[in-house]
Amino acid sequence: MKQYEAVIGIECHVQLNTRTKLFCSCSNDSFGKKPNSSVCPVCAGFPGTLPVANVLAIKWGILGALALNCKINHFFKFDRKHYFYPDLPKGYQISQYDQPVGYSGWVEIEAEGQKKKIRINRLHIEEDAGKLTHEKGSDYSLVDLNRAGTPLLEIVTEPDIRTAAEGKAYGQLLHATFRYLGISDANMEQGNLRIEPNISVREVGASEFGTKVEVKNLNSFRSVERAIHYEIERQIQALESGETIVQETRGWDESKQKTVPQRSKEEAHDYRYFPEPDLPPFHYTRPQIDEVKSKLPELPNEKKARFVSDYGLSHSDAATLTGDKDLAGFYEAAVAAGEIDQSSEQLRQFAKKVCNLISGEMLRLISSGREEIANLKLKPSQVAELVGMVEQGDISTSVAKEVFRDMFETGKSGREIAEEKGLSQISDINALVTIVEKVLNSNQKSVEDYLAGKEAAAKFLVGQVMKESKGQANPQLASDMIEDKLKELSK
Ligand code: ADP
Ligand code: ZN
Ligand code: MG
Repeated sequence: MKQYEAVIGIECHVQLNTRTKLFCSCSNDSFGKKPNSSVCPVCAGFPGTLPVANVLAIKWGILGALALNCKINHFFKFDRKHYFYPDLPKGYQISQYDQPVGYSGWVEIEAEGQKKKIRINRLHIEEDAGKLTHEKGSDYSLVDLNRAGTPLLEIVTEPDIRTAAEGKAYGQLLHATFRYLGISDANMEQGNLRIEPNISVREVGASEFGTKVEVKNLNSFRSVERAIHYEIERQIQALESGETIVQETRGWDESKQKTVPQRSKEEAHDYRYFPEPDLPPFHYTRPQIDEVKSKLPELPNEKKARFVSDYGLSHSDAATLTGDKDLAGFYEAAVAAGEIDQSSEQLRQFAKKVCNLISGEMLRLISSGREEIANLKLKPSQVAELVGMVEQGDISTSVAKEVFRDMFETGKSGREIAEEKGLSQISDINALVTIVEKVLNSNQKSVEDYLAGKEAAAKFLVGQVMKESKGQANPQLASDMIEDKLKELSK
C-alpha cells in the first residue's frame, strides 16, 4: 500500500458573549430562551432598518486576533455575503471579505508530546444566522431568530495540521484562549465554539494537495478527533480502491460515529460579496491597537511555561492545570494561600502536593459530578490547609485523599472533617509512648531477634504500632520511637 499523509485546515466560529448583538441592541444572551423573544426589526432584517456596530465586539475581534498573533488591519470593513436560506432574514450575512480584522497569525499547539506552530490565515467578525427546527413528521420548519445577529469571530488556519490529535489540540487551545480572554464561553456542546475541519489526503512526498472535504456538526473535542480520524481513513480507502474524492461538505453522525455527505460542490454558492454600504469602514491607529493589546491577559501557553518554571511542575501537570482558566485560577489561589516564600524550594514542594490533589482527586470528582469549578463548595484555601496538615504530620497522605473527598462534598474544612471522623494522626510522643511500650512487651521474640542482629524485626515492630493505633500513628514518629527504644535496649 502507498504511504499517505493528511492535510487539514480548520475553520472555527466563536460566539462572543457581549451583552447585546452585533448590529442592534437585542440581548445576546438568549440560549435556551423562548424562540424569537430576543428579536428586533434590525436582526429580523426588516427593510429600511440600519445596522449600528457594537464597538465592544469590534474591540474583542482585535483582542482575539492579537491573542492569535495576527497582524491587525488598520483599515477594515464589513461586506455583505449573499445566500438564500430561511434562517437568514436579510438574504445576506454581514461579514468581512478582503479586509478582515486580523491576518497572518500563528499559534503553538502540542500534540502527542510534539510542539508545532499552526499558521492562522485570517480572523474576521461576522453575524450569526438564526436557527431552523424541523419537527419529526411535520411538513414545515420553524424559524427562531434569537441567534440571528449574534457576534461571531471566524478563524481560519492554513492547511498546517496533519493528524487528528493535532486537530483536537488546536481546538482545545482555541477553547482555552477564548476562555482566558473572557470574551466567549467557547462551549462546543452549546454551539458557541464550532470547529469545522477541512481534510484531504495525499501520497507522502506529493507537492499538490488532494481534494478536501469539510466536516460539520462536531460538538465535542473527542468528536473532532474521531471525525478527522474517520475521514482520513475513508479517503485513503477510497483512493486505494481507485475512486476519486468528491469535494463536499459532510456531517459527523455521532450515533454512527462516521461522516455522511451533506452537500456537494455543485451546490456551492456564489456569495456576490460587496462592501456593506450601511456601515462605515473602521480605522484603528497604532496607539488604539496598542491600547487593546495592553488588555491581553496571560494566555494558556504562557501560564503553562510559568507553572513549569515557578512551581517546578512537570510539563503534563502544567498542561492539565492551564487547560482551563478557572482550574488554573483555583490552583494558583490554593498555592498562594499556602503563604510560602515565592521562589523557595518549599514553595515548589508545596505546589507539587497541591497539584497532585487538584489534578488527581479534584478533577476526578469534578468530571464524575460534571460540576463547574466556579460553583464548587470547596475553596482553594481549604486545599492549601489540607496540604499543610499533611506536611505537619497531622494526617497521612492516604487519609488526606479521604478528607479531600468529604471537603469536596460538604465544603467543610479539612480540620473539621479530620476531627469529626477521628482521622487525625497521632504525632504526640506522649500519646504514642503507651502503645510503643505495649508493642515491645507483647513482642519479646522480635525484640530479641533485633538484638541478635535481625534489623528487619524493627520494621515489624513499627507495623505493630501502626496496627495498634488503627493506622493513626505518625509513621515517621512511630519508627523513630521504636528505633530509640531498641537502641537503648542494645546498650
Ligand atoms: P473554502 O473557500 O472552500 O472555504 P478556503 O480556501 O477558504 O476554502 O479554505 C478553507 C480551509 O480549508 C482553510 O483552513 C484551508 O487551510 C483549508 N484547506 C484548503 N485547501 C485544503 C486542502 N486541499 N486540504 C485540506 N485543507 C485545505
Ligand atoms: Zn435585534
Ligand atoms: Mg469553507
